[in-house]
Amino acid sequence: MTPPTAPTAPVSLLLVGAAGRMGRAIARLALVGDPPGLSILAAFDRPDVPGIGTDVAALSGLPPCGVPLSSADGFATFLSSPLPPRTVVVDFSSPDSVRDRLPAIASARVPWVVGTTGIPPVTQALLDGLPSAVLQAANMSLGVNLLRSLVALAASALKDRGFDCEIVERHHRLKKDAPSGTALFLGQAVADSYGWSLPETAVHGRSGLPGPRPGREIGFHAVRGGDILGDHSVLFAASGELLELSHRITSRDTLARGALLAALFLAGKTSGHYSMNDVLGIPSP
Ligand code: NAD
Repeated sequence: MTPPTAPTAPVSLLLVGAAGRMGRAIARLALVGDPPGLSILAAFDRPDVPGIGTDVAALSGLPPCGVPLSSADGFATFLSSPLPPRTVVVDFSSPDSVRDRLPAIASARVPWVVGTTGIPPVTQALLDGLPSAVLQAANMSLGVNLLRSLVALAASALKDRGFDCEIVERHHRLKKDAPSGTALFLGQAVADSYGWSLPETAVHGRSGLPGPRPGREIGFHAVRGGDILGDHSVLFAASGELLELSHRITSRDTLARGALLAALFLAGKTSGHYSMNDVLGIPSP
């Protein structure tokens, strides 16, 4: 007779940046069980952010869950206390916050989902050197991460066959950076497949009289307007045919849900550095 399997304990989340747009979306989805199997153990944000002491569920318009938003000053102390076995830190905050969380996470060896972007090389090197489990992704959407693999496959197959690669991204009017980190992530997949350096071959927009397009270019085009959440298209254009691989985000919850799937994947792991491809179960780049 097969022995009964022990029910898996829920994953306990420590949210960093919990008062932000992503932090609130992550808390809301975790609290409504989308996906199931998660609970919020603690939630942190900057000490001066409005709402410190407020129940995190109330920040998302839900009935109280008994977890207050705490000052990140208390993060290290909290991590040094005994934690449930399947605790995971989920971080959508700022590069400075990631730097500041590193020592406590290194000594507690608690798994860390890092969604925060714009991390400078010095902090990234420290993050890469962490002995504990880390899953880092600039875009937590399952679709975008699968798109990267499809783009890499297309680029490998079409390399040196007369296809020009152009990447078009469209975002809302408030977006600060251009091109988007995801466009660069997709461009890097093309450059890697071609064996090119991305900084040497990337061309950002064209104007004036650029003349005939050289073959050795990856074009980036950033469209800004309205409330577009994030569209990315990678074009491989040849004489007589056009292959276009596209992805559209229609809800911010997509990214929050991806972060929670990442936390479920990472729970219980004591080491290893992972990407969303591991969550998808496909080979990493
Ligand atoms: P946001 O500005 O709405 O929220 C960030 C939160 O982090 C704020 O509440 C802020 O007070 C808090 N914070 C900043 N510094 C802190 C510190 N030192 N300690 C504790 N808390 C701190 O931004 P957002 O849209 O929620 O995005 C947050 C981060 O996640 C950004 O880096 C953004 O680029 C990134 N992001 C990643 C993905 C992805 O899929 N990986 C998706 C969206 C946003």
